[in-house]
Amino acid sequence: MAATEGGAGHAASAQALTQGGRQDGWQDGWWRPAARCPSPNFGPRPSGAAVELVVLHSISLPPGEYGGDAIERLFTNRLDWEAHPYYGQIRGLQVSAHFLVRRDGAVLQFVSCDQRAWHAGVSQWRGRDNCNDWSIGIELEGLEGECFEPAQYQVLGGLLAAIAQAYPVRDVAGHEHVAPLRKRDPGPGFDWARLLADARWPAHWCAAAGPAAAGAAAPQPPMRRDGADAPGAGPAVVRSGGPNPAV
Ligand SMILES: [Zn+2]
Repeated sequence: MAATEGGAGHAASAQALTQGGRQDGWQDGWWRPAARCPSPNFGPRPSGAAVELVVLHSISLPPGEYGGDAIERLFTNRLDWEAHPYYGQIRGLQVSAHFLVRRDGAVLQFVSCDQRAWHAGVSQWRGRDNCNDWSIGIELEGLEGECFEPAQYQVLGGLLAAIAQAYPVRDVAGHEHVAPLRKRDPGPGFDWARLLADARWPAHWCAAAGPAAAGAAAPQPPMRRDGADAPGAGPAVVRSGGPNPAV
């Protein structure tokens, strides 16, 4: 609830200057190159909450299977819980992310970036709680611990660049960074250094790149300049109904 305290004035002015709807390539927080798949699982951002963080997630449904429509169905509350044994573990979950980047680089958008998607859950970054309030969540189709496709890095780099032009993003972090006790996505198979290179960001925007590239075992700090959280295959999920669900 207090996630936007501190610097609200700056945040509001920054948002006024960089609101997504005013940028080329964006319309009311929707990124034009993405295929739209509107989700009902969203709400308003708190007043004055500028988007300063991008949270990266990984998801596959069923876990380890790629290319189906189960992720879209989950994010739009149309998943058949009986269609696979795993779905029983997430039955009733109502979650969303702003974006999904598929294995082939196709991008889907579920929630306007001007709105609050339900991906990070209980979370904290740089001392601020409730990352959903002030972040954009990007799901990468994949499995924790596994590698991601070159097409995904390429598309993600372009998407992050577009986000950085439209919103005052300062950091990119993984779900594993903003909720280190609950979440492990996108996991050690995600190459932060490669993302940094593809996004062509200053290194100080991407603090996670150093430790991740060095193979550090401890949770790494995320990237400077952006970050998000989405449904993962892990067992720790926050059920719907609360004010701060996660995937
Ligand atoms: Zn996640």
